Amino acid sequence: MYDYLVVGAGLYGAVFAHEATARGKSVLVIDKRPHVAGNVYTENVEGINVHVYGAHIFHTNDKRVWNYITQFAEFNRFTNSPVANYKGELYSLPFNMYTFNRMWGVVTPEEAEAKINEQRGEITGTPRNLEEQAISLVGRDIFEKLIKGYTEKQWGRDCRELPAFIIKRLPVRLTFDNNYFNALYQGIPVGGYTRMVENLLDGVEVRLSTDYLENKAELDASAKKVVYTGPIDAYFGYRLGTLEYRSVRFENELLDMPNFQGNAAVNYTDRETPWTRIIEHKWFEFGRDAEGNELPKTVISREYSSEWKPGDEPYYPVNDEKNGRLYEQYRQLAEKERNVIFGGRLGQYRYFDMDQVIAEALRCCDSELK
Ligand code: UDP
Repeated sequence: MYDYLVVGAGLYGAVFAHEATARGKSVLVIDKRPHVAGNVYTENVEGINVHVYGAHIFHTNDKRVWNYITQFAEFNRFTNSPVANYKGELYSLPFNMYTFNRMWGVVTPEEAEAKINEQRGEITGTPRNLEEQAISLVGRDIFEKLIKGYTEKQWGRDCRELPAFIIKRLPVRLTFDNNYFNALYQGIPVGGYTRMVENLLDGVEVRLSTDYLENKAELDASAKKVVYTGPIDAYFGYRLGTLEYRSVRFENELLDMPNFQGNAAVNYTDRETPWTRIIEHKWFEFGRDAEGNELPKTVISREYSSEWKPGDEPYYPVNDEKNGRLYEQYRQLAEKERNVIFGGRLGQYRYFDMDQVIAEALRCCDSELK
């Protein structure tokens, strides 16, 4: 009998499993996929660590989380500065002086501010949705060229039907600082995320290609408690209805050229281009392999966003009001499951970044593993 059965070998599950094991508990980790690391899984192709389930750039302001995770990997100095491609016009992201100069020809912060103020005037009162929030942050021009099309492709919904907080993730700066994140610490784990998660799981029993929900009774009987990091609605057999998720499909190509787009991420912010962004993975590690050699080839991934349906991988919870209400009902059911802890992006139905997942897992360890 294990003390804990951890369902899902992603970041939440791996952190919990590591801490429980370190405190003398017996732990079994299972995952339905044939590999560990959940959606941060990376795979080496021609010396390039490919982010198989989408780009992950670690960033945090939380010193506890940074000190914790750097025990399991060394991080490089990668700084995310995506480029937006709007019908061939290239803009610097996040919204900063380079963006405003390209958009309006303004040169000083004062001129940029005046332009934004002029355009944000159309929103009076507290923004009620993503569109109003975006216009009140950066004005209509930027909304139309850099936000509207991208967001509608990404979420499959009109910007007026999406919550404002999604766009508040992005900084707006009247300086020439194009670091996408306002984070004290940022980087990519040297050697890939998979190795980092393997280090977390060192000495922990892991069974892959094992579906919890299909073998629930038997697996439940093997442990005193369960840490479940899958979708909360799936756990309850969707009995109250399905929560909505966005899924992502990747088209990967190995190209016989050293440099396809000159940057890790290029966002296609027009409505017509069917993909949302193209990731060129080698630039997360400055185009070099583990030995520091320049790589002659490159791997790119086009990302296509779609509505999740059963059988797809869920990526993003759609945290609008309707889903919020349904999640709340599931959360109440979850509270009654005395021996089950629900954690992570899917278990808590929250648009968590990696550092928030780690912080949540550590918080859970603090209260659970006293
Ligand atoms: N966004 C946008 N244009 C961009 C990049 C982002 O409008 O070029 C908006 C979009 O609504 C997106 C949100 O900002 O869903 C958050 O973007 P982020 O890059 O943080 O998303 P993630 O990397 O988690 O997919």
